[in-house]
Amino acid sequence: MTEKYIIDGYEPVIGLEVHAQLTTYSKIFCGCKVEYGAPPNSLTCPVCLGLPGALPTLNKKAVEYAMKMILAVGGTVRLRSLFARKNYFYPDLPKGYQISQYDRPLGEGGIISFKLNKNGTYKTVRLKRIHLEEDAGKLLHPEDGENYSRVDLNRCGVPLIEIVTEPDISSPQEAYRYLVKLKQILQYLEICTADMEKGHLRCDANVSVRPAGAEQLGIKTEVKNMNSFKGVERALTFEIERQTSLLKSGGIIEQSTLLWDDKRQRAEVMRSKEEAQDYRYFPEPDLVNLVIDNDWLDRTRGSLPELAETRARRFVEQYHIPEYDAGVLTEYRELADYYEAVMKEFDNGKVASNWIMTELLKVINEEKADISEFRLRPMMMAELLKYIQSGEVSGKIAKEIFAEMIISGRSAGEIIKEKRLVQISDDTFIGHAIDKVIAENEDNINKYLSGKNRLFGYFVGQVMKETDGKANPEMVNKLLKEKLDELAR
Ligand code: ADP
Ligand code: MG
Ligand code: ZN
Repeated sequence: MTEKYIIDGYEPVIGLEVHAQLTTYSKIFCGCKVEYGAPPNSLTCPVCLGLPGALPTLNKKAVEYAMKMILAVGGTVRLRSLFARKNYFYPDLPKGYQISQYDRPLGEGGIISFKLNKNGTYKTVRLKRIHLEEDAGKLLHPEDGENYSRVDLNRCGVPLIEIVTEPDISSPQEAYRYLVKLKQILQYLEICTADMEKGHLRCDANVSVRPAGAEQLGIKTEVKNMNSFKGVERALTFEIERQTSLLKSGGIIEQSTLLWDDKRQRAEVMRSKEEAQDYRYFPEPDLVNLVIDNDWLDRTRGSLPELAETRARRFVEQYHIPEYDAGVLTEYRELADYYEAVMKEFDNGKVASNWIMTELLKVINEEKADISEFRLRPMMMAELLKYIQSGEVSGKIAKEIFAEMIISGRSAGEIIKEKRLVQISDDTFIGHAIDKVIAENEDNINKYLSGKNRLFGYFVGQVMKETDGKANPEMVNKLLKEKLDELAR
């Protein structure tokens, strides 16, 4: 069990609503391209601009992506679902309504489980629903103090899935870990980039507090406008404290929507329950029911990729690496792909996982690089590892070669050849170096022979220095020991 998150006798209850943009080629109800960073309003047509008389046509790929998500979390795909109009006015919504799903969503149920800590305590969050909808446009507020805003409608009609949890999350940290896990699933399925900073994933956090151990839920508020997972954690921490101290001082919580300000680290009420909107949902008359046949459902199920946990388990068996390594390597699909590509060419799983988890990940993190496009391709990594495995280069020199590979993008073979870095395992060569070191260290040799064993390491170091670090250290150890034993006789 993990410790409960309780403040002044109150415990929080959290439910998250996440919107994930699907990476389909085109929008959900028209043929406009989905692309980020295109010139404003360049990816629009009468349908996504909401011009009178334009009719929506559902994008099959978007439905398939949504089904993948529902199946991946063990939810139920509704074979006949319905689109609904959610009516409201906002300048980024030219139609005056958003096409969404309401009382008959595509997906219901399912769970997301994730580790709470290194000891492997698991938390399971139940999902309420997963439905399809369209995104709205984007307002741009120039920061030059001018009193106007601009609107970019490129995002209008970009397909979204909304993933809603049951109120099962019990702390801001759990909310954070839930989001990390959700992101991993979306990325493994290759249906969403899940980059919250770019707005590809958006999270609304519902939270209430209640006396610790109570059954009944308290009145909730909804916090919006966070733009990172850590931001969600901070916003929840703030809001839980606000609600708790309000209740402690005899106040009451008003059902409301708050906006999080990450710069000022506080949330402010945007609207209270009285101002809550009535969306006047009704079935979308321009679209027929969404009917999924069993054949399509089965094919989609069959196309699901291996997800992180399954892959980690396979890594342990197939490559004989510790569970910990398998967990790190499968955290991101691209990293797991990289590892497997290396292992196509190389046969020591642990040597590969060590190098990838330490040296490679260090550079990837420093450069914030995309591993699937990283210049040091898996083949090149495998080549370097083979040199280490065969004893041709020492671990220490391999690190130098690695650094050089990162800078120049050249292969290990080229660098070794040019710099003559191959490790020397020749007895005669190493023997000469040992003789020289012994001859130059008479005093220390005598001390060693009279019992100062700790000097052995010093002699090894001297021999390595003598050979410019090129001697095979294992052989140096072995030959030196033999020589010294001989002298002791
Ligand atoms: P609404 O109709 O206000 O959108 P929903 O029932 O759709 O409410 O729930 C929205 C989200 O709020 C869900 O993730 C749900 O788990 C969560 N939620 C519902 N009630 C509470 C509560 N009392 N405290 C915390 N979260 C809640
Ligand atoms: Mg809701
Ligand atoms: Zn369009």
